[in-house]
Parts: sequence; C-alpha cells; structure tokens
Amino acid sequence: MANYLKNVLNTKQTPQNQPIPGTHQVANSAGGYSFALDNWKRLQRFLVLGSEGGTYYINEKALTVENANNLLACIDEDGQRVVREIVAISAAGRAPKNDTAIFALALVAAKGNLVARQAALAALPEVCRTGTHLFQFAGYVQTFRGWGRALRKGMANWYQTRDGRGLAYQVIKYRQRDGWTHTDTLRLAHPKPVTGTHGAIYKWITQADEATWARDITPPEDGALAFIWAFEQVQKAQDVATVIKLIEAYDLPREALPTQWLNDAAVWEALLVKMPLTAMIRNLGVMAKIGLLTALSDAEDVVLKRLGDADLLRKARIHPIAVVSALRIYGQGRGMRGDGQWTPTPRVIDALDNAFYKAFQNVEPANQRMMLALDVSGSMAGGNVAGVPGLTPRDASAAMALVTAKTEPRYSMVSFQDKIVPLNISANMRLDDVTKLTQGLPFGATDCAQPMIYALANKIKVDMFVIYTDSETWFNPQMHPVQALAEYREKMGITAKLVVVGMTSNGFTIADPNDAGMMDVVGFDSAAPQVISNFARGEI
Ligand code: CA
Repeated sequence: MANYLKNVLNTKQTPQNQPIPGTHQVANSAGGYSFALDNWKRLQRFLVLGSEGGTYYINEKALTVENANNLLACIDEDGQRVVREIVAISAAGRAPKNDTAIFALALVAAKGNLVARQAALAALPEVCRTGTHLFQFAGYVQTFRGWGRALRKGMANWYQTRDGRGLAYQVIKYRQRDGWTHTDTLRLAHPKPVTGTHGAIYKWITQADEATWARDITPPEDGALAFIWAFEQVQKAQDVATVIKLIEAYDLPREALPTQWLNDAAVWEALLVKMPLTAMIRNLGVMAKIGLLTALSDAEDVVLKRLGDADLLRKARIHPIAVVSALRIYGQGRGMRGDGQWTPTPRVIDALDNAFYKAFQNVEPANQRMMLALDVSGSMAGGNVAGVPGLTPRDASAAMALVTAKTEPRYSMVSFQDKIVPLNISANMRLDDVTKLTQGLPFGATDCAQPMIYALANKIKVDMFVIYTDSETWFNPQMHPVQALAEYREKMGITAKLVVVGMTSNGFTIADPNDAGMMDVVGFDSAAPQVISNFARGEI
C-alpha cells in the first residue's frame, strides 16, 4: 500500500518524463511532459513570434503547419474573435513583424463563416497599413480562395479610405512586393474613385500614358499629384543638386529615388530630415558607411534626438526587436551581406540601448519580489526569434528579463539548465554585454523546476517567479516545475505566482492552466512587461 501511494497516487512528485497524474499534460519535444497551451494562447504566440526560423526541435515548415492548423481550429471556433486578436496585436505594433497577422487575416477572409469573413475584410486597412502589407495579403488570400465581390470591395476600400496625399505616398513608397504591384491590385479591386485626385492616381497606375500631368514641365497644383510628379522628375534627374531639391520640396522618401543616388552622403542628409523612424533605424549602417553618420556629426545629433523620443518611437510603432536587430548590425560595424564597413559611434550604440526600453509599452513597477529566471539550456540557443539572424531565444530572454529588471526595484536574476548557472547580469548592464554572456554558455539539459528549488533551498522570499523558456523541460527525475512551486508555496508560506514567458511559438507551457496564480505571456510581445507587472499586482 505504501509503495502504491508513493508510485502512483503521489501527485506532489512526478518525474518530468511522466505526466502528473490527474492532469492533461502532453509529451513535449524534448521527451518530457508539459501542459498543452490553450488554442487561443497559442494563436497569440504565433501572431507575435511567427514561425520563421523554427525552433531547436521543430523546423520552420513543421512549426508553420502546426500553427496554421491551430489557427484554423480557432477560426472554426470563433472567427470574429480571431480577427479581434489579430487587430489587437497588429494595430498596437506588439509583434516584431506584421507578416503573421496578414497571413492570419487572409486565412479568416477565406475560411471563416460569413460574419468572420466580413470582419476580416473590414479590418484590412487597420492590419494592412502599407502597400507592402496589401500585396502580402493579396498573395496569401488568393492561395486560399477566389476573388469574390466582397474581397474585391475590401481591397478597394484600402485605396478609397486614404486621403489623396496618403494614397500618393503609399503608391510611390511601396510599389511592388512578391510579384504584386498596384496595377494588379487595382485591376482586381476596381474602385470607383471617391475624389478626382483618387481617379487621377488610379489612372497614373493603370494607364500611365494618359496621365500626362505626371510628365509635365510644371508640377500639378494638387499636392498629392505633385508628389507623384516629383517622383517622375527624380527618375530623370541628371545631377545630385536636382535630386536634393526634389527631396526637400516634396519630401520624397528613399524608395522614390533611383538606386544610383543612394551612395551619396548629401542625398541621405536630405532624406534624413523627414525620414520615417523605421527607415532611420534600419539604415544606420548605410548612413555610417557613406560617411554621413559619424562621430560628432550633425546626423549623429539628429539620430540621437529621435531615438531618445519615446512618443516618436511609439507613434512609429518601433518594435523592441527592430532596435535589437539594429543594435546587432550597426554595432558590429559591417553589413549583413558583407557589403561595406563602418565605425559605430558609442553615442548611437547607447541611444539604441536606451531606445530598446522605450519601445515597450509603459510599464509601472509592481514592487513585488520577483525572481527572473532565464532558461539557458541547449535548446534555447537554437533557432532565431522573429527571424532576426543570430537572435536566439536565449539572447531574447535576457533582453526581456532586463526590461522587467530595470522596472522592478526588487528583482533577482538567475539562469538555469539542469542546475543554476551563475551569470552576473544586472539591470544596469547594456544589452549587447548581456547577450555576450549568454552566448558563451555550453549546451545543457533542461529542468524548469530549478528556480523554485533554488529559491526554497536558499530561503529566498519570492512573490513571483518569471521564467523565460520554451517549456521543453525533461531532466528532473523527481518533480515538475509546478510541483516545485507547490512545495515552495507550502514550505515558505508565500503563495508565489508563476509567469511563463514563452520564447518560441510551440504549443507547450510549464504553467498549470487551472491555477489562477500562473500565467502565460508571449516573449517579445511589446506589451509583455506591462502584463507581467499587472499580474504581479493582482490586476489580472
Ligand atoms: Ca531546453
């Protein structure tokens, strides 16, 4: 009888390679057991993290299929809710890339019921905010369904709901993607122009020969058409002075210029004045390479001022990952494809480091005792987060943990594999220094129970454990993470909470979905630190 109790009915201690009796745990990819993530939570992971680059265990294709099947299950259950989830994440810029939201929207527009399909098309302008997004949507949607009347009308709305100047900007800046152009989409959508300006722009796109105003010697009076006229002019420009004059007079973006002018520092200097923040952050290396962005240059002052403006960062929907990516590329002093070298300036590096924190949604400190625990096991060093080359879940975890560490006055940071790994990370360290520490670690086994075991063994008082992991736990022959937490709560007399920050878009979590003191958030959701803090304060 004693053995019977010990071996079968003991739900306080279960080896991680077996499911906890009485739960619905599932086998994870590492040979251990985790909880299955709820379909809707998995949808959120997919919308934020995508499946690009796969994980250590699952290749990109298989991970995409898994997530697409989950998405279809959600559409089947409640297509309108899927649209709401897509809009919530896409419109607020919470995901590093918009691709997954567009893919998901196209799938609802094809596979949802009538109401869901209508909701998807109504959300089109909100989710597909640029011409590139629209082309991506068109590419996806036509592989899932035919070009019915409602779909054509939805596409037409994308053009009709913009003012003339906004439309002109879109058709110049984003002219093609994946074999799609505005000629293609306009021929499908066939909008009846809402204004004369719209009509003139549609004609310039579909029947360029008839839009003679675009090639006139003098610009049209209409500002939207004059912008397109300036685009036509700059294609024919013979000298830098003319190019710069057109940029200054008409706010032409980089994409409007023939590539031959894009090696000229004076051209970039003119572009920088009105350059959108996304483009500025992405082109720091280019501007450095051509000699514009150098130490103590005026351009450096402009860049610093904009990177330091939290409102500007939020308005431009700059995602923290975009800043991390820029920090890595600009900081290494050479382009990704080996095209050119430059000397990064310490002021720009520091400004990027600060911008990273500003790019998250506002976080109020919860003032709770938090243990931030980074899973630095082998699997966390495989795959890329959000398709950023070389950005592993390990690096991304460290970056996310720093955000909370900077906010919370009472934090402790630990790293673990199958045991605690000493890593001296503190909130005052710079992001690139922290990732240098995590990158040098050896591959080890995974036991996500370690943070709780460690806190109990050392009698550390913790109100909330925040574990950054892929939830592929398997190593511990004694207990699961939730069992370690239960023991911690009991022996320390603290009803400690657990937040699992999911760093890959797999379907697993170490958090018990039936325990209100545990929660899942998505790693690199720019709202994640705020949600963690709200949960710690008991506001969720
Ligand atoms: Ca692992």
